[in-house]
Amino acid sequence: MPRINETKLKSYVNKLYRGELARWKKKNDWRYSISSFYSDENRRRRKPPTKSQENSVKRKYKNKCAICSKPYDSYDFQYHHINGDRSKTTTTNLVLLCYRCHNQVGILAKAKLKDYINTHKQPSPLPDFKPPKFKF
Ligand SMILES: [Zn+2]
Repeated sequence: MPRINETKLKSYVNKLYRGELARWKKKNDWRYSISSFYSDENRRRRKPPTKSQENSVKRKYKNKCAICSKPYDSYDFQYHHINGDRSKTTTTNLVLLCYRCHNQVGILAKAKLKDYINTHKQPSPLPDFKPPKFKF
């Protein structure tokens, strides 16, 4: 089995995490659960890479997985959106990853985001309190 380059794995995890975190912060609502965040992300319009983008990404990564160097085969490889924004399909935001590494990057980035949310969440603000008016 090809060996995972831990440095590269970490680097793609961090890039994905930062992208997801920025999008999560934009929602500005900690009650937004991680699962609804991801299903929302999945509903976003995914822009698949064109054939020419796929070819240039394959060339750029020398037909190998960018993390474990496994040689490309069409059944096991995916084009990963580096910052997680699936609508931003550009050759600079795409990297060639085998299924196993792609999966790892997703799982680890999601775990980091979950940690962040759990340590930063605050109680929802109480509705404005209006003191009752008394007539004296
Ligand atoms: Zn790989």
